[in-house]
Amino acid sequence: MTRIAFIGLGNMGGGMAANQAKTGHEVLAFDLSATALEKAVAAGCQAAGSAVAAVRDADAVITMLPAGQHVRAVYAGEILPNAKAGALLIDCSTIDVESARAVAAQATAAGFRFADAPVSGGQAGAEAGTLAFMVGCDEANFPAVEGVIGPMSRITIRAGDHGAGQAAKICNNMVLGATMIATCEAFALAEKLGLAPERFFEIASKSSGQSWSLTSYCPWPGPVPAAPSNRNYEGGFATAMMLKDLKLAQEAAAKAGAATPLGAQAEGLYALFDRLGGGGKDFSAILELFRGFAPGKDA
Ligand code: NAD
Repeated sequence: MTRIAFIGLGNMGGGMAANQAKTGHEVLAFDLSATALEKAVAAGCQAAGSAVAAVRDADAVITMLPAGQHVRAVYAGEILPNAKAGALLIDCSTIDVESARAVAAQATAAGFRFADAPVSGGQAGAEAGTLAFMVGCDEANFPAVEGVIGPMSRITIRAGDHGAGQAAKICNNMVLGATMIATCEAFALAEKLGLAPERFFEIASKSSGQSWSLTSYCPWPGPVPAAPSNRNYEGGFATAMMLKDLKLAQEAAAKAGAATPLGAQAEGLYALFDRLGGGGKDFSAILELFRGFAPGKDA
């Protein structure tokens, strides 16, 4: 049995911590939210009174926090000064590459093994233990990281050294944001041209317009029953979260001097949809923008 400290028990961390507890690990959980902590305890975790209390005797420390500033603060103030010597530190939050590398450098200098290990798969994947992990760590440490991640994952891939996991995450989500917008534009155009959206789906899903956004997550209600478009775009992956990831991609591109004009357009369009009130809707709801509706209004 491994003793795991889990910090950040929100939409994602709650399910992930529960899956660690289910495999018989002792999970010392902490969150600033008492409600989140209570849910984790009901799912088999032990409540820690603070992040410091959680990490003190843990073999592995997992963080699932909102953004880079939270990860930097928790590492500098609580984890690094108090974690057990030799502990394995894994940050699963989606954060900027620079923060991931800065935290990795501090952790390594303090004698810890560190991995950035952001995830794909959403809340449903967190609850089912089927997330995809993209890992940035030293090659020698990867087997240990993979072992700790096991109960939460469907697939774990080492992207490269520190920061590479975050780089993979934001590049992947930039493709996702841009393909979703292109798919939504095409549905809106098909509708205007008098082409039945269902027929367009049938044809494009077997032609070169095919993508994950179309065939696994179709923004037009109907063709893909499990997609959030069939639940009025509730749940799924929120527009505000997609916007956060697209902003991270643009910041990284500006710092690296990379040309990402479609990524920039995608960020601008999701920012607009967020301003119009779509921030809480699944990101495929941006279809409404191209059809000329305010978010949440029916045709
Ligand atoms: P969330 O807001 O539901 O959860 C974050 C939790 O962190 C909250 O419960 C909050 O109280 C806690 N927290 C904040 N500061 C803390 C601190 N100092 N100490 C202890 N707890 C603290 O967010 P989420 O949806 O679980 O997302 C977490 C991370 O996962 C984000 O980086 C997000 O981008 C990423 N992510 C989310 C999804 C998704 O579909 N929700 C998918 C992939 C990745």
